[in-house]
Amino acid sequence: MKVIVADVLGMCFGVRDALAAIDQVQQPAAVTIHGELVHNEQVLSRLAARGFRQVHEDRRQALPVTDTVLITAHGVSDRERARLASAGKNLIDTTCPLVERAHEAAKKLRDEGYHVLVVGKPGHVEVEGLIEDLPSHDVISSPEDVKKYPHPRLGVVCQTTTQVRHADSIRAAIARKNPSAEIRFVDTICHPTKDHQKALEKMLDQVQAVVVVGGRNSNNTRQLVARCRARGLPAYHVQTAADLQAEWFDDTDTVGLTAGTSTLDETIAQVRQALQEIAHSRAQTALTASS
Ligand code: SF4
Repeated sequence: MKVIVADVLGMCFGVRDALAAIDQVQQPAAVTIHGELVHNEQVLSRLAARGFRQVHEDRRQALPVTDTVLITAHGVSDRERARLASAGKNLIDTTCPLVERAHEAAKKLRDEGYHVLVVGKPGHVEVEGLIEDLPSHDVISSPEDVKKYPHPRLGVVCQTTTQVRHADSIRAAIARKNPSAEIRFVDTICHPTKDHQKALEKMLDQVQAVVVVGGRNSNNTRQLVARCRARGLPAYHVQTAADLQAEWFDDTDTVGLTAGTSTLDETIAQVRQALQEIAHSRAQTALTASS
């Protein structure tokens, strides 16, 4: 079995920067991480072992008990930042600049009088941060969610990790159902997400199955899995090399490997190594059977 590794995979600069910022924290026990720093369980376990307090994303309404609060790469609304600041909290802000760009785009549309449509996953922490500053908005997760909106001006932004072709289909549905509205689309999908998707597309014609490495709750990892399955290929979502099962690849001559934007380099290397060991073991078995 041959293993093909996607040209672009794994950790993006936004997550690397957030991890670098948190490495600089001298007294972890004095800092509350306001949600999950990244959607990667190995990273979260390491932060817990260092002594950071971590508040579940669904329980951020209560004020953190520590004086210092770390905003994650997914960002928060201006309203939430003001709430924390007015409670006297010192903020360490690791919001990715490309998430900030999505906030700026949404607020500009708001200020210009548009009803803002956010293409993304309802309830996702990044989406929550975006809509909290918008008095007039809807969140759209699929073309079936699109309605005829009672607004003459519709502004569209995307969660940064949206699949480009998914956003395109929602954008077309918005135009179809709102033929008389003035529609303005701002492309806020981040370039690392696009690069991962492009690299996956390039690989899909050459493989019979794909292993996707990333956190269970990682939106962009799930999108990579969904894309493989939409193309009719088996896609195996693993968090570590220990999740791999050799029998998945019994009928596979070539397997592809990709990983979400919050996956550690070492985890990808371990999964790659494990796939190569499975390939080696299969080659040995075939050799023994033929001799
Ligand atoms: S996935 Fe994109 S928006 Fe999110 S942290 Fe990485 S670069 Fe930033």
